[in-house]
Amino acid sequence: MSLEKVNLLGLTKDKLASFFKDIGEKPFRAQQVMKWIHHFGVDDFDAMTNVSKALRARLKEVAEVRAPEVVSYDVSADGTRKWVVRVASGSCVETVYIPDGNRGTLCVSSQAGCALDCSFCSTGKQGFNSDLTVAEIIGQVWLAVKSFGFSTNSEERSVTNVVMMGMGEPLLNFENVIDSMELIMDDFGYGLSKRRVTLSTSGVVPNLRKMIGRTDVSLAVSLHAPNDELRNVLVPINKKYNLKELLAAIDEYMTSLPDNSRVVTIEYTLMAAVNDQPEHATQLIRLLKDVPCKINLIPFNPFPHSGYERPSNNAIRRFQVALMDAGFNTTVRKTRGDDIDAACGQLVGSVMDKTRRSARYEAMRQEAAQQPEAVRVIDRAS
Ligand code: SAH
Ligand code: SF4
Repeated sequence: MSLEKVNLLGLTKDKLASFFKDIGEKPFRAQQVMKWIHHFGVDDFDAMTNVSKALRARLKEVAEVRAPEVVSYDVSADGTRKWVVRVASGSCVETVYIPDGNRGTLCVSSQAGCALDCSFCSTGKQGFNSDLTVAEIIGQVWLAVKSFGFSTNSEERSVTNVVMMGMGEPLLNFENVIDSMELIMDDFGYGLSKRRVTLSTSGVVPNLRKMIGRTDVSLAVSLHAPNDELRNVLVPINKKYNLKELLAAIDEYMTSLPDNSRVVTIEYTLMAAVNDQPEHATQLIRLLKDVPCKINLIPFNPFPHSGYERPSNNAIRRFQVALMDAGFNTTVRKTRGDDIDAACGQLVGSVMDKTRRSARYEAMRQEAAQQPEAVRVIDRAS
């Protein structure tokens, strides 16, 4: 009987130190091996030259460094990169890299599918398949950095920001996401600062509270509606944890952070005639009047049979201006990587969809592509 090997890619520094202790080695090996894996991109123990031959042989028996299998890899005309990777459950998930000036943001998946079934999200439409392991989450970062070549010079970093905004609800895969973010911020891992790592949640209130004291990453919350009635339809978890409870939990997390200059990012996907009307802007202004935040408007990205439409650029602009006039820092997320289906909400995780695209979907995509980019485009979540 062969024992399953431990995948060292998914172990935090403390867990890797325990692993070495368990096999009768000194815990400091953890830092050595982490550098090989996360700084130099090495997945072959034989290449870890400061590790003794005997230990390398032992590691080959009991451990491995294994990123998820890459099913497809596309680079968009605008420089956006997209990977579809297969995870242990057999499902596929997507990872997207978005370059923007001297910033490179990696959008990472935390689950295959999602149980929360937001009405406008193609991931939600697939239902839930599996939680990703830490190795599967970190493996996405490892693969992305590898595509640029690992560099020990932080000035030359390709991935400068990581956002947990791919497929899945990160707070429903809590422990694995916490460990992954720890590795992303660890100097022996990817060394990103807490301000450059963002967790996005649709509002799993008890787990948002559980973050307090466990992590200090930046927070983004998918609001999408300024009142409970509409939010119950768009983001059904609102029926369990309403806006009042959500805003209270956001406040608790944000005030738990030692640095009080940080603000929550409110994500608001704009859908034509659904939540983009002047009265929605007015309600949103009232709802958020005491919440230190910046607002990121996401024009709806169409997918087949969604039943929703992207608002006109005028409607988007009108909504943005109303919020800005009320004093909110408000940005509109630029659609990137549309030619490779890498935009928010288009992450369907199945390569099959490329061949199954409906004529209606193609028509929607072409129509969206023709819309002039007249809206003020500034930023994504930082
Ligand atoms: N589950 C988490 C993180 C993943 S979704 C969350 O919901 O926050 C990342 C962002 O993309 C969320 O704000 C989500 O609401 C948004 N999104 C989902 N589908 C979209 C679509 N079709 N068009 C635009 N944004 C979408
Ligand atoms: Fe899940 Fe987020 Fe999509 Fe909602 S928007 S279904 S929480 S991935």
